[in-house]
Parts: sequence; C-alpha cells; structure tokens
Amino acid sequence: MDYEAIIGMEVHAQLKTASKMFCGCDANYAAAPPNTHVCPVCLGLPGALPVMNRVAIEYVLMAGLALNCAIPEEAKFDRKNYPYPDLVKGYQISQYDMPLSRDGWIEIRLEDGTAKRIRIRRAHLEEDTGKSTHMGAYSLVDYNRSGMPLMEVVTEPDIRSGAEAWAYLTKLRAILRYLGIASGNMEEGAMRCEVNISLRPAGSAAFGTKVEVKNLNSFRSVRQSIDYEIKRQAAILDAGGQVEQVTMGWDENAGRTVVQRSKEEANDYRYFPEPDLPVVRARRAWVDELRARLPELPDARQERLIAAGLRPYDAQVLTEEREVAEYVDAALSAGQAAGADARSISNWIMGELFRLLKESGQDIATIQVAPGELAALVGLVNRGAINAAAGKQVLEEMFATGRPAAAIVEARGLAQISDSSELERIVEEAIAANPKAVQDYREGKKAAVGFLTGQVMRASRGKANPQVVSELLRAKLG
Ligand code: ADP
Ligand code: MG
Ligand code: ZN
Repeated sequence: MDYEAIIGMEVHAQLKTASKMFCGCDANYAAAPPNTHVCPVCLGLPGALPVMNRVAIEYVLMAGLALNCAIPEEAKFDRKNYPYPDLVKGYQISQYDMPLSRDGWIEIRLEDGTAKRIRIRRAHLEEDTGKSTHMGAYSLVDYNRSGMPLMEVVTEPDIRSGAEAWAYLTKLRAILRYLGIASGNMEEGAMRCEVNISLRPAGSAAFGTKVEVKNLNSFRSVRQSIDYEIKRQAAILDAGGQVEQVTMGWDENAGRTVVQRSKEEANDYRYFPEPDLPVVRARRAWVDELRARLPELPDARQERLIAAGLRPYDAQVLTEEREVAEYVDAALSAGQAAGADARSISNWIMGELFRLLKESGQDIATIQVAPGELAALVGLVNRGAINAAAGKQVLEEMFATGRPAAAIVEARGLAQISDSSELERIVEEAIAANPKAVQDYREGKKAAVGFLTGQVMRASRGKANPQVVSELLRAKLG
C-alpha cells in the first residue's frame, strides 16, 4: 500500500546567554572541569530561589517573532516532575500551557523549488539538565549544564519526509544563528532534536500511531532515522500489524531505531505552576522594541539576492549561514566598482571559493581573501584581463597568501593574451604540429577544434583568450 509519512519535530536549542537561566552562574563552561559552574540554585539545594534571566526571555521572544509566532500577553513557568540523577531538583522548570510564543510558521523550499510552510506550534523556555556519563557499574554527573537556558521549538505535524525535516532544521538553525541567540551546533549538543513519525494510507485524513525518536545529534541521523522508520512502519502495516506507540533511540552504527520505552511506561509529569516565579507579562512596548532589534532574516536576504540577479537555489545556499551571507553582501557591494556582476560573483563563491573552503576546512569568516578582493578578481575575469583558468589559479594563491588579485596576475604574468598577432603565431604552430586533428576537422569532426584550442592554451601557458583562439582556429581551418 502507499503511505504518507506524518512528521512533527521538537528541537531544543541552548541559548547563548552570559549566565544561566535562574542563577548567576557563568554559562560559558565549555572548557571548565566538571561541577565548577554551579551554585545552590542550579544544584537544587533546599531553600534556593530562582531568578529569571531577562536576556533568555528576550531571546525566546525574538525567536518567536522571527518564527512568525504570536506573543501572548502572559506566559508562565511550570514544574515538570520526573526523577533522574541529572535532574537535581527532581523537577525541571519548563512551560506547560502558557508558553512565551505560539502559532507561527517557517517557510522551507522543497526539492522541486516550491515553497512550503511548516507550522510552529510553540517556542518556549526551560532549563537544561546536568549531563550523565555512564561508566558501566556507575555513572558520573556533571551539573555545569544544569540550569542552562534551553529553548524548545515544536512544529505541527506538517513535515512529510526526511528531506523536508532536513530543510526545516536548516532553516530553523539559520534563523537562530542570524538572531545570534544560539550556536545551533548539534555535534556539541547545543541543539538536540526529537522526531515524531507516523504513517497513514495515502489519501486518508486520520493520523496513525506515532513513534518518537529521541536524542538525534546530527542532521544526517535525523534524516536517516526518518527514512528508516518510514520503512519499518510500512512493513508492519503491510503485514496487517499495528504500530506501537513507543519512544525510540537511534543506533548510529547499526543504522536503525531501537525501542527505549513503551507507552505504558510513559511519564506522568504532574505539571503545576512554578510557585517561586511570577507570571511573565510581555508588554506591547517591550515586544515592539524586540521586533525592532531583529536583523534581516534568511528569507528576506534570499529575496534581496534573487532581486540582485542570483539564481534562487544559489540565493538559498548563500543565505543559510550568516557569515556566508555577510561575505556575499560585502563582495556584491564591492562588485559594482570592480566591474563584477552579482551572478558571476555568486558563481565564483559557489564554485571555486566553496571548493577551497571545503578542501582546507577553513571558515569563511576568517579566510585571507577579503570580499572586495574576490570581487576584484571576478572583475578581472569579466573584463577579459585574465581568463577563467588563470582566475582559478589566482584565487588559489589569494586563498593561500592573502595577496590581492592584481598583484598576483602581475607577478605571475598571467594577463591574458588577446592580441591577435601573437595569438595567430601560436595558432599557426598548433595547426602545423597537429596534422591529424586538422584533417579530422576538415573531414567534418568539428570537435577537433576543441583539441586544437587546448593545444594553443597549453602553448600560451593558459594565457590565451579562448574565445579569440577558437575564432582564429575556425578562420584558418576554413
Ligand atoms: P506528545 O504529547 O506525545 O508529546 P504532542 O501532541 O505534544 O505529542 O506532539 C509532539 C510532536 O509530535 C509535535 O511536533 C506534533 O506535531 C507531533 N505529532 C503529533 N501527532 C503526530 C502524529 N500522529 N504523527 C506524527 N507526529 C505527530
Ligand atoms: Mg515529545
Ligand atoms: Zn548556578
């Protein structure tokens, strides 16, 4: 039978605040020894009282606005009760029925180029737990993470495939990074993801029983676990069985989901309002002030780049990371004076610069090629001062040394030969040295001209203008 996958996602993102959510502990504990960034509040000692971190609340409100959410006038914190060694208080301060923001959407682009909205159910604020390391016979717990501000973003079940989930995560992470409120690094555990998946017969309206896959720590495992679950559930349904409502984990090495607990063991969290914290009132003036602080977001940036002449796909890729988008913007504005059009600049970045970044493992924010110099290089190629092949060599050297394009062209004598008398001589030599190719061409194998062009380019050490060469060749071969 044909099935449609129904997928909803819950994403946790650690917020980049200076201090923790409800105490003054330094939130930058990345390099710190275990249990050194702790105090009575985040250790849950009796009598310790929480104090709200205003910046964390502002960050979630900004995220809510960027995700097109409504900001209710009142929000509150609740206690979510469950026993676990890394949860020192025996409860987590979270938000149950009055989140900071709700009912928004994110737009993603599907593989066929069309846009699709994924509805956001809510974005709320809670505190992170400590971190357990299981050593076999015993476990170690580090409470440095305990009480870190954590935002949870929950979608409606609008996602239909692993590819859509990937696109959603990419867009969500881009927005959080543009806002500067979260690193979104899944490898470091600063962003964590849970996926809810069910199948229904294609064309049916009712949802099937869902399975939740937890603790996914890369985009790849999100996509793979979804693809795996779709196959697994389809096989059960095809065999006339029923999908069980369970919580699963992802076994990266085996490439399959594994059951962690069944519905019968599901927690009853006994939520109740946190008595030690007041209700949060989001006054309009405050919300307006936060809205005014939002930077230009990926969608708007993408539209602007398309209007400047970039292909929609390129505009999307180039706005996924804020640092890349900023580099592109700087190169485009330098491009006007350098005689480099937006489309050419985008091609050079998407092609050669990305290749160099990938090969070297460098970060675009810290490379030696200034955006203005990249534009200058593209300008040299566009004006025919050097050809594209020489341009690639020049960019490699710029990347390695940080020297300006023009200086490299000069020092290496790469300026393109467009002067036809000099080219004519090289072309004639190539014709004389390759009688077989000449004969092929005259017998109708027009492709032979490509071979001869290559010979001329080689003889000119790549400096010949390929267009002039091929014109000369055709004229001489008749
Ligand atoms: P729970 O109470 O089990 O956490 P929720 O209704 O709160 O379930 O939803 C959690 C997530 O699961 C949301 O992202 C939601 O969109 C998604 N979801 C809800 N029902 C389904 C379903 N039948 N199939 C897939 N995902 C679902
Ligand atoms: Mg859940
Ligand atoms: Zn603390």
